[in-house]
Amino acid sequence: LLQARGLSKSFGDLEVLHSIDLTVRRGEVVVLIGPSGSGKTTVLRSLNGLEIPDGGQIEFAGGPSLDFGGRLRKQDRLALRDRSAMVFQQHNLFPHKTVLQNVIEGPVQVHKVPRAQAIAEAEALLSRVGLLDKRDVYPFQLSGGQQQRVGIVRALALKPSLLLFDEPTSALDPELVGDVLTVIKELADEGWTMVVVTHELSFARAAADEVLFMDGGVIVERSSPQEMFTNPRHRRTRQFLDRIL
Ligand code: ATP
Repeated sequence: LLQARGLSKSFGDLEVLHSIDLTVRRGEVVVLIGPSGSGKTTVLRSLNGLEIPDGGQIEFAGGPSLDFGGRLRKQDRLALRDRSAMVFQQHNLFPHKTVLQNVIEGPVQVHKVPRAQAIAEAEALLSRVGLLDKRDVYPFQLSGGQQQRVGIVRALALKPSLLLFDEPTSALDPELVGDVLTVIKELADEGWTMVVVTHELSFARAAADEVLFMDGGVIVERSSPQEMFTNPRHRRTRQFLDRIL
């Protein structure tokens, strides 16, 4: 579905990504782990055009192909943004809009879906995550876990080919984490393609097809979850896993 090659990015003197290669196949779940500041979020943001790398390429199957070394065409950037939808650490819902209004905003405003159709689709998605009865309330009236599930529904409503999750549970109280991870796992089982940044290793173990360990802007190690968690090859990976396990 997606191939990224040689992505690099610096902020001033700080090199945040150093020649990152990443392949995501259709239906695959790729989990990115690594210490704070290792560049995980920057990888996600690059994949959906929120961040423009200094060099490298991103190619979507049957879609845009971007070469960050050359001049970027605006329509390619927009096409890249259209391919994926991001779920943030904080849900980023509009506080003054109801749950339903939050979910239909993207489809109606960006994709020009007729309002009635957007509402019907939004209701079906809300029902899936057990939140249809909350359609007319405001985000502040929801728990953090419910807000995050609305955030996921909002991403799904855009019908992206790729879902990007940036530490979707790290801002939640521990007892709310499970519900959100269950929803993400169900989406994975349904065949959604996703890249997930998370510290939840049990989720990675259960859902990932491939786990990438990043440190200092490079991918140090990539393997199946089984390999990564029982038999990490690199010392840096072992040190990281020892600290969080
Ligand atoms: P975390 O788990 O803490 O979110 P991360 O692995 O996702 O970390 P990134 O958020 O990608 O790491 O950040 C990598 C480095 O780039 C960090 O040192 C961060 O301070 C720096 N950085 C990120 N965005 C910017 C920016 N817009 N301007 C300057 N520095 C930035």
